[in-house]
Amino acid sequence: MNRRDFARTLGLGGLAAAAGTAIPGCAPQSQTFADKHYYINRGYHQIPKLRLSTDRIVKETVGLRPYRPSGPRIEAESLDKKTIVHNYGHGGSGWSLSWGTGNMARQLVLATGQRKIAVLGCGTVGIATARLLQESGCDVTIYAKDLPPNVTSNLATGTWSPASRVCDPNVARPDFRKVWEEATRFSFRRFQFLLGMNDIACWVEEYNVHTEPPQSNPAMGSELYELPGLVPERVALTRKEHPFKAGFVTRRSNMMFNIPSYLHHHLNDFMVFGGKVKVQEIKRLEDIDALPEQVVVNCLGLGAKAVFNDAELTPVSGQLSCLIPQTDVQYKLNTKGANFIARKDGIFLGGNGIVGNWDTTPSKEQTEKVVGVLQKLMAEMRG
Ligand SMILES: Cc1cc2nc3c(=O)[nH]c(=O)nc-3n(C[C@H](O)[C@H](O)[C@H](O)COP(=O)(O)OP(=O)(O)OC[C@H]3O[C@@H](n4cnc5c(N)ncnc54)[C@H](O)[C@@H]3O)c2cc1C
Repeated sequence: MNRRDFARTLGLGGLAAAAGTAIPGCAPQSQTFADKHYYINRGYHQIPKLRLSTDRIVKETVGLRPYRPSGPRIEAESLDKKTIVHNYGHGGSGWSLSWGTGNMARQLVLATGQRKIAVLGCGTVGIATARLLQESGCDVTIYAKDLPPNVTSNLATGTWSPASRVCDPNVARPDFRKVWEEATRFSFRRFQFLLGMNDIACWVEEYNVHTEPPQSNPAMGSELYELPGLVPERVALTRKEHPFKAGFVTRRSNMMFNIPSYLHHHLNDFMVFGGKVKVQEIKRLEDIDALPEQVVVNCLGLGAKAVFNDAELTPVSGQLSCLIPQTDVQYKLNTKGANFIARKDGIFLGGNGIVGNWDTTPSKEQTEKVVGVLQKLMAEMRG
């Protein structure tokens, strides 16, 4: 059977439906005339509506971003006979920057000449750092009081956002822009090698939908820390190109991380390459002194505050509500007061950040606010 016969057997309409696209001139006539928005919301920019109701929410969490206004701490210091390499305080950018700052920590470790290394912490930063050290021939043991899924990293949205709440540019260290750029570039390149691995990292379409030109918040690390040329630029869409009621709509492709499978994959790799994991709480510096390794990498996230007496480290809480996955919804959307992202394990609604809040109890008001904003936006969508 040749290609033309195959097409005839299936019927062109069947092929179009299978591909999920409208072949010009082949769309069912009734649909074309019954719905003038057919080509808007069923054409090039397919944006299915999210089915939103509180009974579809299966999980709610509050995670605490480890925020330092001066930026993450990446440096080495001596503690008696040991070297401590700090790698913590990534704010809302820990997923994105994990490989980049992990690489910086690796350089500081290798400079000591030691190869038997302790990594404190088993979140995304600790795991990435431990893997990089293994790649450089180190014998690594991770010490952590909690392992995935019971880590802050498991409570994140999981998008490429290397400048999100990463610092306050007004008080950031003078060299921080340079450090951030180096970490961002290294991480971005590393993520390209993780694409196609059972979707632990993948690309997603991201829409920003606003009724007024969106304002950024410079105090939380913002456009000052944009790096053109990595992910594609945002493209403004005209009203004919999107189904939303809002007048300011952009689209771009962005990277995202399917958090549970990503953490599982890398922790597994760590152990396949001979890494050891010990469940242990570090309460004070003496506990670090008692470890057999001479070089210790501190990836404790917010836990570093108490152990290293870091007055600057502050939580910025963020609440997420997880909806049952919806097969046709495979995009990310940001609007004023709310956002959502479709991951493999669910559709995560969020959008808040409360500086200095240690309370991890989900708030009903916050859930209702986010659901309300998104329900209205969906109800007003054409198509
Ligand atoms: C709602 C929300 C959304 C987010 N979205 C994104 C996003 O889209 N993109 C992005 O890049 N980032 C995002 N982040 C930020 C990101 O999740 C964090 O920056 C990142 O998880 C920090 O990772 P970590 O490994 O440093 O810390 P953690 O994941 O907290 O890991 C710390 C580890 O140290 C251990 N530990 C702590 N204290 C001790 C102790 N005393 N003794 C022994 N072990 C200890 C813990 O058990 C854990 O194993 C988000 C965060 C939140 C809360």
